[in-house]
Amino acid sequence: MINKSDTKNNHRVKRRFWEIFKTIRGKLTLSFISIFGITLIGFSFVLYNVFAKQSRDDFDIVMNVLASSISETIRENGINQDILNEVKEFNNPGLSAFYGYTEVLNSAEMVVMQSSQLKDISLPLERNRVLAALNGSREIATVYTDDPGNLWDSRGARILYVPATHHQHKYAVILIAPLSSVEGMLANLRLIIFIAIPVTLLIASIVGWVFSKRAYAPVGELVAKTNTITAEKLHLRLKVSDADDEISHLAETLNYMIERLEQSFNTLKQFTSDASHELRTPLTIIRGEIEVALKKPRDKQEYENILKDNLEEVNRLQNIVEGLLTLSQYENNRITIQSEKINLVDIVIESLTKSRILAEKKNIKIILKLEEENPDAIYITGDSRKLMNVFLNIFDNAIKYSNENTEIQCYTGITKTDNFAYVTVKDQGIGIPESSVKNIFERFYREDSSRTRGEGYSLGLGLSIVKAVVEAHGGRIEVKSEYKKGSAFTVYLPYSS
Ligand code: ADP
Repeated sequence: MINKSDTKNNHRVKRRFWEIFKTIRGKLTLSFISIFGITLIGFSFVLYNVFAKQSRDDFDIVMNVLASSISETIRENGINQDILNEVKEFNNPGLSAFYGYTEVLNSAEMVVMQSSQLKDISLPLERNRVLAALNGSREIATVYTDDPGNLWDSRGARILYVPATHHQHKYAVILIAPLSSVEGMLANLRLIIFIAIPVTLLIASIVGWVFSKRAYAPVGELVAKTNTITAEKLHLRLKVSDADDEISHLAETLNYMIERLEQSFNTLKQFTSDASHELRTPLTIIRGEIEVALKKPRDKQEYENILKDNLEEVNRLQNIVEGLLTLSQYENNRITIQSEKINLVDIVIESLTKSRILAEKKNIKIILKLEEENPDAIYITGDSRKLMNVFLNIFDNAIKYSNENTEIQCYTGITKTDNFAYVTVKDQGIGIPESSVKNIFERFYREDSSRTRGEGYSLGLGLSIVKAVVEAHGGRIEVKSEYKKGSAFTVYLPYSS
């Protein structure tokens, strides 16, 4: 049988290549590589251009320096062999990046001196630049074509026209240098960049992918472990590493969530079993009584008694169902609380008056002690009918769990510290054992579980509803109890002056 997690794992294995970019790991690596790639390309572009410009400028500077030196030699010594020596010196192996040839023209544009390589060669000189040089200005240009004698290749050559004078004679010094050296070097640099960028990016992608795999390995473990936690295995927890990083925080958060889920599940389970148990008993009684009644014909009185007993059980069922419905409505926030300004003292007095009838049967006195400063009015915002039921319930319990001839005291007031209106109902009854105090607000909890029927029977839903109503009003309920001495329930509600 294939279960769901198997299918999921198969799916993971079958992931197509492009689908890795859907994963956070893939996305992270891709964005890292894109940013790195763009930066690398931009950086290389700027670096190359700055370097290329600098190299070409340097090339021109070298030519100019050499030409100036030739021009100076002519000015001092006239036209002689020294001029060519200078070029030769320049072309020595130590300066292999530069080599060039020279030619000197007189004012009639006739060649008066030239490097041996230029013999029988007619250079593609521009006449206007020659004339400009004869007239005293410097000119520089690049030629790509018309190579007259294997002097340069397709990368062209630089031709510099420089003026020179000796006594009254004007000359134009022509310096010609093939660009192959500098352009060759730049071409190599371009090649290196074009190879280096993709190689670097490839290496960075692999390294990034491997690193992100390591970084995300705990996520994979977390997912695998989380997949094993099902409704039946809610007691399991995820391993939290000591790293104090995002993953450990995530694991912690998930653990809290699982804990809350476990609590809710347990409450739900408990509730289902409690509720079915509570509903089953009256139903069994009704069914039993009906079966007994049907066994033989009975007289009218007998039928009436059986129906009365059944009605009692039906009432009990109805109370349970209504109580549960009310509680579930509070829990789902589906109860609307009327927000009217009401006097809490009035509500307490009214519920107390109603309860007195019950108290008198056990000769229990109920004493009301109002706040000294403002005895008749403590205003709060809320639902008077629902709050009345809260106090009726608390008084009802106080009477139910008190012995005859005792006293119940009721205090009202406003707390000094947090400005809450409070009502305390203190009895001298049976009290609640310390171990049970925390349970009394749970549904169906009753200290004496045998007291489920007959006079003064209890459902164990009263205080759960009381707590829900008080909390829906933004308040809280507290209990202090001493076993066999008495209990004091205090309801706190936000005071509105
Ligand atoms: P019920 O009173 O119907 O049993 P409640 O929810 O009102 O249900 O109360 C839950 C339990 O809390 C009671 O069964 C009882 O054990 C305990 N209890 C409530 N009020 C008092 C009280 N004033 N004195 C002693 N025990 C009390």
